Amino acid sequence: MGKLHTSLLLCASFSLLSGLLACTPDTSNSQNNSTVATQDGEGRLAGYQLGRYEAVRIIDVASQAELIDAIASAVPGDHIVLADGDWVDLDLVFSANGTQDAPIVLKAQTPGGVILTGQSALRISGEHLVVENLVFKDGYSPRNEVVSFRTDSETLANNVTVSGLVIDSYNNPSRTQREIWVALYGKNNKLVNSHLAFKFTSGPTLAVRLNTPESLENNHLIAYNYFGPRPIFGSNGGETFRIGTSHYSMEFSGTRVENNYFDRCSGEVEIISNKSRGNQFVGNSFYASRGTLTLRHGGDTVVENNYFDGKGQPYTGGVRVINPRQSVRNNYFKDLTGIRFSGALVVMNGVPNSPINRYHQVDGAVISDNIFENVSAIELGEGSDSERTAIPINTEFTNNTITNESGGTPFNLYDDMSGIRFEGNKTDNAPPDDIAYGFSISGDSPVASEGQPTPGIDKTRTGAAFYPKPEENTDPFEQGREISVPVKPDAIGEAIRNAEPGDILSLQQGGIYSEGQILLIDKPIRIIGPEDGGVTILFERNSLFNLSATGQLELKNLTISGQSSPDAKGNAVITSSNAAGAGNLSLTMDNIVVKDLDVNGGFSVLDVGRGTFFDHITVTNSSFENISGHVFKLDQETDDFGIYNAEYLTIENSTFSNIGGSVAKVYRGGKDESTFGPHIDVSRSSFENIRSAVLDLHGLQHGSFVDNMVAQAENIELVYTTGRPVFKVEANQFTTGDIDSFIDVEDVRN
Ligand code: CA
Repeated sequence: MGKLHTSLLLCASFSLLSGLLACTPDTSNSQNNSTVATQDGEGRLAGYQLGRYEAVRIIDVASQAELIDAIASAVPGDHIVLADGDWVDLDLVFSANGTQDAPIVLKAQTPGGVILTGQSALRISGEHLVVENLVFKDGYSPRNEVVSFRTDSETLANNVTVSGLVIDSYNNPSRTQREIWVALYGKNNKLVNSHLAFKFTSGPTLAVRLNTPESLENNHLIAYNYFGPRPIFGSNGGETFRIGTSHYSMEFSGTRVENNYFDRCSGEVEIISNKSRGNQFVGNSFYASRGTLTLRHGGDTVVENNYFDGKGQPYTGGVRVINPRQSVRNNYFKDLTGIRFSGALVVMNGVPNSPINRYHQVDGAVISDNIFENVSAIELGEGSDSERTAIPINTEFTNNTITNESGGTPFNLYDDMSGIRFEGNKTDNAPPDDIAYGFSISGDSPVASEGQPTPGIDKTRTGAAFYPKPEENTDPFEQGREISVPVKPDAIGEAIRNAEPGDILSLQQGGIYSEGQILLIDKPIRIIGPEDGGVTILFERNSLFNLSATGQLELKNLTISGQSSPDAKGNAVITSSNAAGAGNLSLTMDNIVVKDLDVNGGFSVLDVGRGTFFDHITVTNSSFENISGHVFKLDQETDDFGIYNAEYLTIENSTFSNIGGSVAKVYRGGKDESTFGPHIDVSRSSFENIRSAVLDLHGLQHGSFVDNMVAQAENIELVYTTGRPVFKVEANQFTTGDIDSFIDVEDVRN
């Protein structure tokens, strides 16, 4: 980012600070002072200096009993200092009353030195409190929230600042258990310089709650935080952020969300679900995040000076506009590949006289001075259908710049554009005729990227200064050791138990490995046989591998046979569970032979556990034969909550013969439009004697069946339940039957 960028940020920061009366420059390093974390680095104003708090009394506490006593007797000006170390199962209530000039401070002895672990949680209520530099990790909250700005439904926090909070992978072991990591109630509260990353469970990472009058017109500030990776959740409820709910969406919230960094926040179609009036999103950066900042309910919200950089990643989007009087100004949208609900800019059609939980008409929106550089889609009138007939009105789209190196225009018009005025826009590719009057067209790219100020904030200026941010996606096996596994009973299990994450188990001797236990995979593990084959794995329990937590299993050059498995129904080579906690799983199989899963009925290759989720399952160059059950059984979520078991199943260049069940059986229930998956892609593979539907896919969103050979197989069964599912069928060969009778589609959408 260039020089101008810096100066622009400085202006934004100063103008905001001028509104904060309590702002005092930090000029002292005295131990008796506590300043809400600043990260100054280069002499720039980098954090929110929200005041300097003179400690009247410092109370060091080293046990839960001492801590509880200190809080109970706290008076304004007290600084309660938690001794460094692990605080296990600390279900803490911090309820006290400071004053504006002398808040009560609860802080770590050393930033990063105090770890709240096990089943810990923090509830805060009262006035003028400060909480600094607490780290939650290696456990999960015993409550619905990890940090709550209330101690019970009647007792709320006001004028409370939490800074330097870290919540890292602090997930309930059951990923479908709804929990919120930080819940703001009350008024005038602040969350600043905090780090929240790797939430795998249902429910937003952060929520601003408006559920009582005492929490309306709240004037909260959420600033300079680092929202780290939020992996794909596989259902609604994977938002990083939610402000309000549809029930309170007509209420005025007044939360300001400023200068935060959203890093790979890809839980679902809403990165942020704004469901209340009068909020401001200013100066934030969204990096490689799927979905959009969605102005889902409530009006009068401003989205200004933000930077959306999709890095060309799938489904990356910008802002989705719904409801009256929304403003989207001076934002920079770059390399965003999302379309439809996940476009760089989406202006929705509304529902006439909409119920509170549907889509209110866009009325009086201002979309101006934005730059769209190499984005796939600007969707106008999106969602137009027999219900959503209310077109955007009284809206202006002015002085925007749109450029696409690849040629073509990103604009898609789904309805009448007469309610949007287009003026003063610049583009390098002709927009659709209906709106062309509002554009000047230049052959050259009209965006002068060099020296152009880019809004948004740099990652290094967000989060907790003492807590490192995660790396970009790296190969987990890069640093792994190679462990040679001898041929003897239970040798693979022993090697896995002793392995570090990312280790590679090498079975290079060849021979028959026999395992008498189920092997827990709760870390990245690669098991690799010799390239010329010669390794067979037998297993004596009802499954061989159980994936749990963030288990990643890669199998290469192996034969797995079910011939030693117990004579019982429903065995599976690979299963998944929450035995070691919640997380996203993955499975890769390359050059694998799976055979003789026929000792009894329903013997599957993969049979997932309820409430478990695979980010991806990738199968290449493999063969599956004599299998009495399904090959990939991903159908455990049958209660229609919209939860499913795998985002991507990809099969290439593989053979399937003599299969009793389906090659893939997938169930994604529910009618909500909150997920991009599941995706099922099958290519260059052959299918012979498949005795159930080759693919049995309920509720998929994206699929393909391309360049395959089919002999003696039941049909592909597709049930379309929601969204705009796409299933591509191309270049397949059939030795019996034909394509027309091969694909059965049942469409149960409205
Ligand atoms: Ca949602």
